[in-house]
Amino acid sequence: MIIIGSGPGGYRAAEYAAKNGLQVIVFEGAQAGGTCLNCGCIPTKTLLHESQQPDRDYTKAREHKDAVVEQLRTGVEQLMAQPGITLVRGWASFKDDHTVVCDGEEYEADNIIIATGSKAKLPPIEGLTLTSDVNSVPADLQSAGPRIVTSTGLLDLDHVPRRLVIIGAGVIGMEFASVFSAFGSEVTVVEFLKECLPAMDSDIAKRLRKSMEKRGVSFHMQAAVKRIAPEGVTFERKGKEETIAADVVLIATGRSPRIDGLNLDAAGIPHDRQGITVDPQTLAVSSLSGSVRKGLYAIGDVNGLSLLAHAATMQGLHVVNQILGRADNIRLDIMPAAVFTTPEAASVGKTEDQLKEQGITFTCKKGLYRANGKALAMDETEGILKLLADEDGRILGCHVLGAHAADIVQEVAALMNLNATVGQLRDIIHIHPTLGEILHDTAEMF
Ligand code: FAD
Repeated sequence: MIIIGSGPGGYRAAEYAAKNGLQVIVFEGAQAGGTCLNCGCIPTKTLLHESQQPDRDYTKAREHKDAVVEQLRTGVEQLMAQPGITLVRGWASFKDDHTVVCDGEEYEADNIIIATGSKAKLPPIEGLTLTSDVNSVPADLQSAGPRIVTSTGLLDLDHVPRRLVIIGAGVIGMEFASVFSAFGSEVTVVEFLKECLPAMDSDIAKRLRKSMEKRGVSFHMQAAVKRIAPEGVTFERKGKEETIAADVVLIATGRSPRIDGLNLDAAGIPHDRQGITVDPQTLAVSSLSGSVRKGLYAIGDVNGLSLLAHAATMQGLHVVNQILGRADNIRLDIMPAAVFTTPEAASVGKTEDQLKEQGITFTCKKGLYRANGKALAMDETEGILKLLADEDGRILGCHVLGAHAADIVQEVAALMNLNATVGQLRDIIHIHPTLGEILHDTAEMF
């Protein structure tokens, strides 16, 4: 088997395949571990954790972040050195649909998994040129203007910017807004849409934005950024232009699939702006005629189905199972997701808006953190849980804003995988006192 990319999609698939007797070659052009480990999930969550400490110190936080990344990367490198796996350092590209070329060498395999991830999308904004060295001091400070970075550049910054303007209120924009605001930056978020986090339950998204506003983050919604210049970021809202001064500008307007240099056309692999076109059940690459190609798969961010590390991993395991001829019960349609802001937000299943759009009859019950003993004890009373079920009580979704939202949602994800009802949830004993009781109490309302 060939795997291109060693992110959470690639390296976990390689480990699992090798454990089950397959011979695996992994190609990696940059650092082992991919976006998630080196410049995504792990460094951001380390910074977030540090930003919440009473004695928060950015220099210490960066040292902690680098140490955690280093430790995990070493772990992935060791994993890639285990029997059955060969890690080839270099950028791979297709020669044809079963041959991959790297540094002039050709490699063939029965099965090829593309797991090349994604990169920051840069919108066509006047004056948007990424700053190559975010920590260099410009010769002429007066006319230099703000440093313009993607999330990767911001993670490299060696100081807390005084004024941080974030373009885009998606997951990445919101998480960085939360972290840098806690470290003391004056943070302004500019977003084109009406509300932040468009994939989230709109009620939860609005509450999160309001909560972050109370913590000092400024939001300009329905605002179209026109240009970035030395005086700052200029946007247009309701026909009027406004400029906000900035020391650093974070471009957080989404991600696009990393397919450049792969020579996909040589292998006849169809792709569009979302990524490589795959069958959503099998992750097999579609052929240009729309049928599915045997032995060619795309997993993780590069197929655009769900831009999450755990999605990449589980898609990879699902593909390896198919190659091994093993049936599994991996439900790729039940994809829990979290936004690690303060407060945290998480969700699984359908939102109210989606259910209404699809004409599905449902009931929604709401539980509040302030009615929960553990939340009161933790001084974490801000939060809400929404549980949605169909006419038979089958759980359709859960959306949470508040401390440990992701952990609460994980329980619902497990229940949804088992096709459980709110009645069954009601019968499950929950430890007292825990935040999980908010879920249990909400189930009792049905
Ligand atoms: P990647 O992790 O991007 O790995 C792809 C690898 O392929 C890279 O190492 C790349 O160098 C290599 N590669 C690319 N092309 C080639 C080639 N031609 N030849 C050889 N190698 C190649 N997700 C979460 O679930 N939770 C989070 O909290 C979270 N936080 C995030 C925070 C940030 C700032 C960002 C940017 C992302 C975050 N994500 C998070 C998303 C997560 O990082 C991705 O969903 C995940 O990394 C995708 O995994 P992947 O294996 O598909 O690709």
